[in-house]
Amino acid sequence: SNVVKDSDTLHIIHITAEMAPIAKVGGLADVVTGLARACLSRGHTVDIMLPFYECIQKDQMSELTLITSYDSFHDGKWVSTNAYHGTVTGIPVIFIEPSNHFFKGKSVYGGSYDEMEAYLFFSRACLEWMQAAFVQPDIIHVHEWQASAVPLLYWDMYHHLSLRKPRITLTIHNMEHYGECRQEQLSKCGLDGSVYATEDKAVDDRTIGHNPERLSLLKGGIVYSNAVVTVSPTYLKETLCSGWLASTLIKCHDKYIGILNGIDYAVWNPATDIFLPAKFNAKNLEGKRLCKYYLQKGLGLDLKGEETINRNDDVIDASVKVPMVVCITRLVAQKGLHLIIHAIKHVEKLGGQMIVLGKAPDRRVENEFKHLADLLNQGPNVRILLMYSEELSHMVYAAADIVLVPSMYEPCGLSQMIGMRYGAVPIVRKTGGLADTVFDIDDQSNQEMANGFVFEGIDERSLSWALDRAFYHYRENPDEWAGMVRKVMEIDNSWNNTAGKYIDVYNSVRVR
Ligand code: ADP
Repeated sequence: SNVVKDSDTLHIIHITAEMAPIAKVGGLADVVTGLARACLSRGHTVDIMLPFYECIQKDQMSELTLITSYDSFHDGKWVSTNAYHGTVTGIPVIFIEPSNHFFKGKSVYGGSYDEMEAYLFFSRACLEWMQAAFVQPDIIHVHEWQASAVPLLYWDMYHHLSLRKPRITLTIHNMEHYGECRQEQLSKCGLDGSVYATEDKAVDDRTIGHNPERLSLLKGGIVYSNAVVTVSPTYLKETLCSGWLASTLIKCHDKYIGILNGIDYAVWNPATDIFLPAKFNAKNLEGKRLCKYYLQKGLGLDLKGEETINRNDDVIDASVKVPMVVCITRLVAQKGLHLIIHAIKHVEKLGGQMIVLGKAPDRRVENEFKHLADLLNQGPNVRILLMYSEELSHMVYAAADIVLVPSMYEPCGLSQMIGMRYGAVPIVRKTGGLADTVFDIDDQSNQEMANGFVFEGIDERSLSWALDRAFYHYRENPDEWAGMVRKVMEIDNSWNNTAGKYIDVYNSVRVR
């Protein structure tokens, strides 16, 4: 293979609330696993530290061993804690299991414990473990607000104790979650919360009306980390222009950089994917047509279009071809809920088919989509599947002609990249990482990069216009479309392609 090996190798420890596939809620989980795997294959030493959630899928872990029993501080007491070592899809993981009630429950988030306090505990317990186990990595890579107390605890506590060598990189995957934390909560991990209640530390000038009682852990993390990364160049620009923490990021712009996420090609490969009944690649798309056929059949969708295709390739009447549009997403406001609902209706009107695979954490949103599902799932062209299913997601991407990502904002977005890898042409709203990965086919000035359909407005008409154009291309020019399918499949959005940028960041802050 053509994997780069770095001669000067580093030890990197990730501290994160999510990891694919055992504790995945969204893209964060995929990013941590994909980046870790890419760095491992370049010759670096990588560990991931993760809370030992009760809900973790243990069948995906191997060689689980208790490695350290130690105490970590919380709320005036020392809590006995176990660290286990295990391997998850080839990646070394250290699981932190406190003896209290933290991280118990049926899902990664939303247990009946105080989430802020649990992640403050976890952040300290990771550093405490490094100290107890005499482990000093070159880089501690923390993710999101959940691990943003680590840089504070490191520079104001553990660096004065025994940890000398590590330097800290923070990746911000989504700026909306800034980790609102009361002073007294921060104090529970052993820091003096009042010390951080200033604008040069953890109080943001925009959040919650300057209330010094309310800290932003993410802000503290930004201020205290050696390097701060966000997940696409366009999102970086957007975060400097408006929103929470913009002024902080402007002040920190020398250490703030945008690196586009990759996708994990070990997981997302239509040529080897174990979840697919038929495999395919850019040179042979027969398997993709079969996947579409099987999924339509399995979900009881109307088969007219595909049967015509299967029986006789040459006499397809373009007008009966049924484009399959898919949307695989958490159903939250960020993802453009009104546009997803509009797409369902508009695709039907255009004579296409649509599958939504999504989980709604909010009861009201769930009911709205349930209502739509009751209305439409009996019909021939729409399936709204309100669940989280990794397995089904592979099948849906493989069956898709078009992958829709109409987000209001999108730091990076993995769905459009996964879709492309599986031969689905993307339709996206021009925001964040979507703007960095999808370029409009009808833009004559950029035909070289052209790989999908892009719209800008947040109104229904803007989306309709993009869908209309996609359906037009699909139906009127099948050869052009087939060329586009091959083109999007051959774009290299792998971590191998972008992990080097993270290595450069690590090298720029490490201590030699
Ligand atoms: P976010 O991190 O905001 O959720 P991303 O596009 O970065 O958005 O990542 C979403 C990831 O989660 C993708 O891998 C997508 O395929 C997956 N995903 C989202 N919803 C579902 C679902 N209901 N079932 C299976 N996978 C899902």
